[in-house]
Amino acid sequence: MSESANRFSVCVFCGAKPGLDPIYAELARAAGRAIAERGWQMVYGGGRVGLMGIAADAALAAGGEVIGVIPEGMLVREQGHRSLTRLEVVPDMAVRKTRMIALSDAFLTLPGGLGTLDELFEVLTLRQVRFIDKPIVLLNAHGYFDRLLAMCEGFVQAGFVAPQDMTSLLHDGDLERLLNRLRPERA
Ligand code: AMP
Repeated sequence: MSESANRFSVCVFCGAKPGLDPIYAELARAAGRAIAERGWQMVYGGGRVGLMGIAADAALAAGGEVIGVIPEGMLVREQGHRSLTRLEVVPDMAVRKTRMIALSDAFLTLPGGLGTLDELFEVLTLRQVRFIDKPIVLLNAHGYFDRLLAMCEGFVQAGFVAPQDMTSLLHDGDLERLLNRLRPERA
């Protein structure tokens, strides 16, 4: 179990922007709602902006617990969310990642940009060196991550990444199926 609680805790990495197509906001909303409906706790970057804010609001609206972790210097830029179950204000971006990882039992990546990829690769590389052993899943809805997955497959084929370090990254285009693979039972 994570540091977080007796409740299964899922860290959501996703865009601080909403994306141009409204399908992305709908995905974030569905993810926040689904996490709360399963009785899981959501951990995320603590902002109100973009897909992050949409996922957090959806989890709260569905009665879920949401913990945000935000660097002090991002409180204005990412609009620190003051209606969360708890908002932890930390000194910097590195501590934010460490804290989100400690609070979480599993990691779910939704569409996003460079920051989202930084967070995904942080947990993938920590797992590669066995510093963590927690499930990492990727919502590849609408094929958003197809090219990233193909690139990672190329790294494996070139001998720079062990096959098991990529095959253990579960990905699916369907949210419910992905969450069922993350943790089948609803608690
Ligand atoms: P983006 O995918 O670029 O919209 O960013 C998604 C989230 O990742 C935002 O909350 C960013 O502040 C966050 N982020 C970006 N870089 C880092 C980092 N090095 N450490 C922690 N969080 C980061």
